[in-house]
Amino acid sequence: MAELFAAIEAGGTKCIAALGIWGQKPVKRIRIPTSSPIQTISEILGFFAEAKKEGLAPLALGIGTFGPAVVNPSSVNWGHIGSTPKPGWSGTDFAGILAQKLRIPVGFDTDVNTAALAEETEAMRQGMPCDPLLYLTIGTGIGGGLMTAGNILHGLSHPEMGHMRLARHPDDQYEGNCPYHRDCWEGLAAGPAIEDRWKTRGEQLSSEHAAWDLEAWYIAQGVANLAMVVSPQRIVLGGGIMDVKGLRERVAIYTATFSKGYLSGLESPSDWASILVPPLVEEPGLAGAFLLAAKALQPKAKVS
Ligand SMILES: [Zn+2]
Repeated sequence: MAELFAAIEAGGTKCIAALGIWGQKPVKRIRIPTSSPIQTISEILGFFAEAKKEGLAPLALGIGTFGPAVVNPSSVNWGHIGSTPKPGWSGTDFAGILAQKLRIPVGFDTDVNTAALAEETEAMRQGMPCDPLLYLTIGTGIGGGLMTAGNILHGLSHPEMGHMRLARHPDDQYEGNCPYHRDCWEGLAAGPAIEDRWKTRGEQLSSEHAAWDLEAWYIAQGVANLAMVVSPQRIVLGGGIMDVKGLRERVAIYTATFSKGYLSGLESPSDWASILVPPLVEEPGLAGAFLLAAKALQPKAKVS
């Protein structure tokens, strides 16, 4: 293989490190639990050291990490993990340690941003309207990334779409479980909130259970709010919860109800269903990290 890149998708509970190139199955990969930073990073480095012995030497590394993370390249703390309840990780120089040990250029972003990058790249390749493209993951947490004019939106730090406030469903007495905001979107609708509200893991609730109508109601509210802000051409809904049978269709119905035809071209549930799509790319967070690695090799544009 002429060109080889390294990619890491670091999630809240597991990390995947891989070698390969965008658009192809990785040639080598490992899945490890996300434990302490020392343990996790040393296992990642062990994987790359092993690969090097097999002649697999990447040109650059891309990291898509759980947040919060310092992704603004002009920040002195670029590449660090932000303030997180995850033990030991706050302030970890994730990108810096790996760049120093591997001695290759490193690209660093959040996992939802790398997923958005992968989805936009693939949608472009297939000629699908995707500017802007909003990527949302609904799983153990709720997060989102936005691609606009081919760029990942960073802003002051990076978006925290999962922590927006929503109107409560009139019949929902659950108090919410976000440690910061209690009843934000994630606190009401991510996997742990479903389990806490119904005292049953989501996987054990049938697709006909009332939990999923309420879930669709909350997902749709967040989606409709974001659609009002960014007017997306494509909204990719990923994450394990979106695998529940019929959930995507219910979300399309509720987004149409909430938006009341106010967004041009998105009046009916079928209009919404046409842009509320599942991911095109397998493991988009990891796939996007390969793209980020390739970008890290490109010379930086001069700021005049
Ligand atoms: Zn929150």
